[in-house]
Amino acid sequence: MIDFELSPRIKATKNMVHMFADQAVRPVARQYDENEHEKPWDLLKMVQKVMGGGIAGALGSPEKKEKKEGEEPKEKKPKEANLAGAITVEEIFWGDAGIALAFPGPGLGGAAVQASGTPEQKEKFLARFFTDEPAWGAMAITEPEAGSDTANLKTSAVLDGDEWVLNGEKIFVTSGKSALEDSEGFVVVWATIDKKAGRAGIKPFIVEHGTSGMEITKIEDKMGIRCSDTVSISFMDCRIPKENILGSPEVVDKTKTEGFKKVMATFDATRPLVAAMAIGVGQAALDFLKEKLTEEGIELRYGINPHRMTSLERDVMQMEADLKAARLLTWRALWMLDNGLRNDLQSSMAKAKAGLAVTRITQKAVEVMGPLGYSRELLLEKWMRDSKINDIFEGTGQIQLLITARRLLGFSREQLK
Ligand SMILES: Cc1cc2nc3c(=O)[nH]c(=O)nc-3n(C[C@H](O)[C@H](O)[C@H](O)COP(=O)(O)OP(=O)(O)OC[C@H]3O[C@@H](n4cnc5c(N)ncnc54)[C@H](O)[C@@H]3O)c2cc1C
Repeated sequence: MIDFELSPRIKATKNMVHMFADQAVRPVARQYDENEHEKPWDLLKMVQKVMGGGIAGALGSPEKKEKKEGEEPKEKKPKEANLAGAITVEEIFWGDAGIALAFPGPGLGGAAVQASGTPEQKEKFLARFFTDEPAWGAMAITEPEAGSDTANLKTSAVLDGDEWVLNGEKIFVTSGKSALEDSEGFVVVWATIDKKAGRAGIKPFIVEHGTSGMEITKIEDKMGIRCSDTVSISFMDCRIPKENILGSPEVVDKTKTEGFKKVMATFDATRPLVAAMAIGVGQAALDFLKEKLTEEGIELRYGINPHRMTSLERDVMQMEADLKAARLLTWRALWMLDNGLRNDLQSSMAKAKAGLAVTRITQKAVEVMGPLGYSRELLLEKWMRDSKINDIFEGTGQIQLLITARRLLGFSREQLK
């Protein structure tokens, strides 16, 4: 049964994180928006110390997660790790999206290791996120000619003795600089070991910071989430150990894409997190707008006949309804994940809805506030810029709708493109 009440444990965490976001993150939001390539190091170090594993610590420490064979859990806790993680994410992003994205942690790269790594790989690559030193994990899929169409990627990996040799170019890698230059992190790189095999030939590889043959070639200047670094990475005969492949190196049957599917399943866990990020920003804009309306003595009359509402009341209530719908879809996707149910449809629906909701809410909030909404004096214009990314990374809004349509209508990837 789905329960719409948060557990006391999650409620307590939510309140604590909200206070932290309000007092430590929000006050420096503008500063790091104006100075795109600076990092709030003091804050990041504090986050690492306090949260050990950053906001993505919801992945769990590899040591803590492994249960000995036959050992019974001491007490039966509710299955809510992913839901709890997403609520933490929402609250931090309420504070500021750019800074939250810059928080240390395993990130998408760590999620891929968690989803398809061996116990040895998890131990080796995830343990670093549970120390006092900030570290970052990143994921590099996108290429100049492969974004939504991941199957088109050209970066190659060729086995040479005990090493894989990587060649190619990756673009728009979130936290790539943090992972490779600012900490002892890693990037999970998607490359093909057999171009003719299509999706079945695509495998993820872990590339450690400091590996030769890998170079950051560009740091993006962006519209929003400016505190988060986004880079291009070039691989030129970049050699990594044979055991750094995630999943099987075999392309046994070219019609089978199990390995690819397993890594794509990473997104079933991370898309609801992106939805939670969007909801956090949307909530920030809505809270701020309602506070300003109250200051102006404008009261929102809930429950009155819609025909008697002012257009402002209608707008704000629509914003609230959109945000609530997005949140409920997101929580459902996470609840399914926590309970071991297939949630690919729900993840895509949540991300599509939340991405659209946040862009509409922030834009409407700017509109309602008039010129002040457009001014850098307030954070509204920043939230409008920050929000758009939720509709782009980890699969655009259009791609989420496409996945949703395929699943609802029972069409294959080939039947509905
Ligand atoms: C700030 C930022 C951070 C990012 N971080 C990462 C990262 O960490 N790792 C990573 O690998 N990538 C990352 N990306 C890349 C991001 O995931 C891609 O930009 C995204 O998947 C879209 O791919 P594309 O840019 O090639 O656009 P395209 O696929 O070329 O799409 C262009 C437009 O066409 C639409 N479109 C494409 N195909 C279809 C279709 N079949 N039906 C309908 N519409 C379609 C898209 O929705 C989009 O609107 C990041 C991007 C940004 C901007």
